[in-house]
Amino acid sequence: MTTDPVSPPRDPWRDDYAVRTSGLSASEVRALFAVVSRPEVVSLAGGMPAVSALPLDTIAETLQRVMRERGPESLQYGSGQGSLEIRERIIDICALEGINGSADNVVVTTGSQQALDLLTKLFIDEGDVVFVESPSYLGALGIFRSYQAGIEHVETDDDGMIPEALDEAIRRVIAAGRTMKFLYLVPNFNNPSGVTLAEGRRAQLVAIAKRHHILIIEDNPYGLLWFDRPAPPALRSIDEDGIVYLGSFSKTFAPGFRVGWALAPRGIREKLVLASESAILCPSAMSQNIISDYLAHANWTSQIDHFRGIYRERRDAILGALDEFLPSYARTEPNGGFYVWLSIPSNLDSRAMLPRAVAEHVAYTPGTAFYANGLGRDRIRLAFCYPNPAEIREGVRRLAGVLHHEVERADSVTHQLESSTKNVSDRAF
Ligand code: PMP
Repeated sequence: MTTDPVSPPRDPWRDDYAVRTSGLSASEVRALFAVVSRPEVVSLAGGMPAVSALPLDTIAETLQRVMRERGPESLQYGSGQGSLEIRERIIDICALEGINGSADNVVVTTGSQQALDLLTKLFIDEGDVVFVESPSYLGALGIFRSYQAGIEHVETDDDGMIPEALDEAIRRVIAAGRTMKFLYLVPNFNNPSGVTLAEGRRAQLVAIAKRHHILIIEDNPYGLLWFDRPAPPALRSIDEDGIVYLGSFSKTFAPGFRVGWALAPRGIREKLVLASESAILCPSAMSQNIISDYLAHANWTSQIDHFRGIYRERRDAILGALDEFLPSYARTEPNGGFYVWLSIPSNLDSRAMLPRAVAEHVAYTPGTAFYANGLGRDRIRLAFCYPNPAEIREGVRRLAGVLHHEVERADSVTHQLESSTKNVSDRAF
């Protein structure tokens, strides 16, 4: 008997997994992480923060102080809800986005990703509808899928989700007799589109959700990373009862600590703590104490200013390079965050094209990753947060080369198809 040395052995448990795991698949971004580490590739793919711009000496002092002054406590299990100290600081940070709240209603989580997972676990039965932007954050889509939610994309333009389109989508879902649970929004400097929800639309969306008793999940990891003007006040500042607000230290400080939070109405907060205790017992005391100490001793607001400057420069570099190398391609104009959303000709396929781009040493995330309905072949997400401006320009130059080549290829296939169809019709008539 010969065995194929290349393919991995078949999983003997493959028929035993729960039905709901059929929604679990490796994200398109994860598959790209291996590529990012290769030095010859310019990665415009992953949304990795520029952590090397952090004051590493200051953080080293923080680590030492935490170990010296609060070592045993930091190495111990802690509260399931998170320490009161960090929850109070989180309330101060939320105030910067117009949110009033009490530390009592904050739940500290292992990144905001865990908060999303817990909320979905708490609310979603199979088939329950979650309304999302079009496109939407791939990590949220993955969670919603894994709990077998029905994902409904709602039309979105350069000002974010269109309230009339949400109304329309709700009407269709009600007519189909389905149960609606969430409206999931990334209102500021959206991942992947870079678009910000206009101020006037915020109140409209809140009113629509309230009318239909749909819980809003406001996911806002990028809000403080604005470039030219701050984002409008958070939706949570308009309504406290109908919105769970998610924040994170991943983009304004460092994702390695894995600390995020949910600010929730009291009843939901209680359930979230129970669900989190059941999942992880408690968030890391060490990470929380390090962040609390950093916030108390370092000038963290000027560090955020520093990040803004870096990302603004990179945003300018990517828009400049797109103007230079791909002037006829439509794209968004982000005023914060990490991402530009690029339209490519409709006869191209951003997913199929990716291996050819990687062969040319440039990586991006295909638009298909951000839709649950198969759309996005003609879109590309470009993350400008990680490479420096010179690398960004070089990456876009390579991408333009790939795109021009793909357009020629697609045109010649179309040409061949047209002439073979013509030959057939010549013979038929
Ligand atoms: N929401 C959005 C929109 C994100 O872009 C991310 C990270 N890419 C997350 C949530 C999760 O972030 P974390 O778990 O690191 O807080």
